[in-house]
Formats: sequence, C-alpha cells, structure tokens
Amino acid sequence: MGIWPILTLEELSCQALLRNEALAISALGKLPISLFPELFEEAFSNQCTGIVKAMVVAWPFPYLRVKGMMNTFDSEIFHAVLDGLDGLLTQQVCPTRGKLRVLDFQRWPSEFRTIQAGTEDGVCSAETVSEKQAGKPPPRPELRPRIQVRIDLYFRSQMEEAETYFLQWAQQRKDSLQLCCKDVKIVMQSLDNARTFLSVFELEYIKVLELTVDWSWCTLAQFSTYLSEMRNLHTVYLVHIHWNLCEVCFLPCFDEMNCLQKFFSQFSGLSGLQHLYLQGFCFFSEHMKLLLRNLKTPLETFSVTQCQLFQSHLKDFALCPFLHQLKHLDLSGVLLCNVFIVPLRLLLEMGAGSLETLELQGCKIKDSQFRELLPALSQCSQLTKVNFYSNDFSMNLLRDLFHHTANMSKMTMEQYPAPRECYDRNYIIVHTFSQLCSQLVDTLRAIRQPRRICFATYGCRRCFQPFVYDQVTRLCPCLQ
Ligand SMILES: [Zn+2]
Repeated sequence: MGIWPILTLEELSCQALLRNEALAISALGKLPISLFPELFEEAFSNQCTGIVKAMVVAWPFPYLRVKGMMNTFDSEIFHAVLDGLDGLLTQQVCPTRGKLRVLDFQRWPSEFRTIQAGTEDGVCSAETVSEKQAGKPPPRPELRPRIQVRIDLYFRSQMEEAETYFLQWAQQRKDSLQLCCKDVKIVMQSLDNARTFLSVFELEYIKVLELTVDWSWCTLAQFSTYLSEMRNLHTVYLVHIHWNLCEVCFLPCFDEMNCLQKFFSQFSGLSGLQHLYLQGFCFFSEHMKLLLRNLKTPLETFSVTQCQLFQSHLKDFALCPFLHQLKHLDLSGVLLCNVFIVPLRLLLEMGAGSLETLELQGCKIKDSQFRELLPALSQCSQLTKVNFYSNDFSMNLLRDLFHHTANMSKMTMEQYPAPRECYDRNYIIVHTFSQLCSQLVDTLRAIRQPRRICFATYGCRRCFQPFVYDQVTRLCPCLQ
C-alpha cells in the first residue's frame, strides 16, 4: 500500500484555489500574504493565466521574480504576467494590495534573495517607509515610483517571438516603467537596430556589454555616445567580425582616425570597468595608448585576442599602471613570433602577485623568446590556468618551463603545445607525440603534482583539429 504524502494546510488551500479560477481571483484581496508565493508558483507552473495576471496586480510584496519564464518563453503565461503589469500600471487608485515595485525576469539575478521573503535590498526599505505613511491617500498613478522590470535580452538577427513581443511592449511603456537589462548582448545588428533596443532601457543599469559587430570605426564612434551613458559598466566585450577573410584586420584609414579617437575617449567615463575583452581589431600604437590612457581603474581582465599588435603595443601594456594588477591576461591569436618579448616579461612581473590565468594560445612564440619570460613566469604563484597551445616549443624548453612552475601549487589546468620533435616536416608522428607527452608528464610529476595537464598539436591539415594528449592520445576527427 502506498503512502500518501501529507500536504500542509497551505498546499491544500492552493490546490483548492487553483481548481476554481473565479474563486481564487476574488479571494486575492483577503488571502493571507504568506500564501502568495506558493500560489503564484503553482499557478505559474500550471499555466493558470487568469490567476497569474490577477496575482501580479495584487502582489503584496515589492519584489517578484518570475523564475524560468525567459528560459521557456511560453507566450501565454508570459503575456499573462505582462497583462498583469499593465493592469497595475493603468489602475487609477492603488488597490489595498498591489505593492509590486520590481518584476524580475532575469535568469540569474545577482541580487535575488528569495521569493518567499518577497523583498529585496533597497526595495524593502522603500516599502517600509511607505507603509509608515498609512492613512495618507494613495499617490496618483503619475506620482507613483515607476515599476522596475529586470530582464536579460540577447539582441541578434533571429530573435525569439516572445523577445520581440516584449521589446515592442516595452517600447510603448518606457515612460511608465523602468526597464533594466544588466547584461546586454548585441550581435550582428545595424546601428539603427541597436539604437532601437537601447532606447528602451535605462543605460546606467547595464553592467555587461557584449558588442559583436562588423561596423566601421565611424559607426563605432556613433555608438560610443551610448557608452558614456553606460557609466556602471564593469565588463566590455568588443568583437569585430571580418567578412573579408583576405583582410587580416581593418586598420583605420586617415578619415577614421577621429572616429577612433572619439570611441576610445568614452572609456574615460567607465570608472568601474574591470574586464576588457577586445577581439578581431587592429590598432595603431597611438590609439592603444589612448585607450590605455582613458582607463580609470586597474583592470582584472585584459583580453586582446585575434588582434594585430605591434612591438609598441607590448611596451604600452607594460607601462600602463592599470594593467599591473591583472588576474586574467589573454593574448591568444596575437602573433608574437617576430616581436621583442621583454615588455611582456615586464607585464608578467608586474602582475606576478595577482595573475590567475594566462593564455597565450596561437602566439607562435619561439623557444628563445619564451625563455625570456621564464623568470617572470616563475614568480606567478597564483596561476590556476595556463594555455600555451600552438606555440613553437621544443622538449628542452618545455622541461625548463616545468622547472619554473615548481611553486604553482594552485594550478588546476595546464595546456602546453606538443613539442616540436613530434613533427616531421609539419606532419605529426602519432607514436612520437604520445611518447614525448608521456615523458613530459613524468618530468612535471617529479617537480609537483599537476591536476590536469594536456598537450595539443597544431591543427590537422584536413580538419584543422589538433591531436590532444590528456592521459591518453586523442586523434583529430578524420583519423579516428
Ligand atoms: Zn584531421
């Protein structure tokens, strides 16, 4: 005989209400507020759109997080919540309930406490003050504080139907709502489209901006006026896509110089910037200087990948005080085989006490150059991850490198290039690759205990995938 689960009185009440929509809606004014969170979750997951809409209007707490909504984008239930918010916005008189101030659709709200408490920092204290004013007439709708709606949106060419609907809905209500998107991704959109998206939101709430575009410097300069309003940004990703693969990069022509200058000047307003990612760009030395000069705080992350850099850039990096406390440095895909590498050594020395990840994948650094970096690298005892794939190292260099990592006890992931001796006229000799990697792992184990160590060859000529040694040898897909 099965055991019936014992339901609490609250659960039984919710079930009874969910079976009778009219009763549930009429009871909302007198329902104990402790029942609201559970009833809302049940109504939401059972697609009871009428109850969900009425509950948004009557929500007795200042904060409501609608969990999972933006992941499923179920249009009926999504519309029900927005209709509820419309109901709250159009009310002429404040209901006895209806205390909602923040509606949170974010996937992972960082400031979220708990739906049960129904409160949130800032919002909670504001509510306490307003409750002390009991007896005063309710404020007229136009004098009420605007309801804040928090949401994550990803602006790309193929947006989901519910996302497009939400944008249109929000556009029409932007004067009565405070629309906040903490994490903005704009991928392959025209400047006009980007303007439409951004006009809906309060720009000072944006913390993370990811811009993947094929714009010219002049278009970026036009966009940069928005950067000055995004004054609370802590992370900026700028990715430039090249459609013309023959072009290594797009060096600015003379006419674009001013545009570039305008764009980088806006960085001076980003006083909270901590993480800067640049990918696919090409800068003249003076423009990189301008960017670095406009930084206002020490960066934690400096990632300049798939970019063309010159000798002078490395020197500028080493001299910039805001790059001296880096936790993450990534120069992957930047060809360094023909540069004087000592400035990079200085940069590593400066960040030795803080650097946690170092990625130099695909830089084609030679033995003699990397040897210059070893003394500085050995001081980086906080490193947890290194990636040196696709550099031109010999067995001897790798052994020396391992001896310089003796005090890196925090390392959890180490990625090294297959030694040069694995190749015969650019073809990989599989058994030599396995044998030499195994020897190198033994060498490192005699120095310290690595947690995870991998070696990878350059990409295969047919499928461009590498062979990887990670305790066992994995061949590229076309040889498996
Ligand atoms: Zn292959």
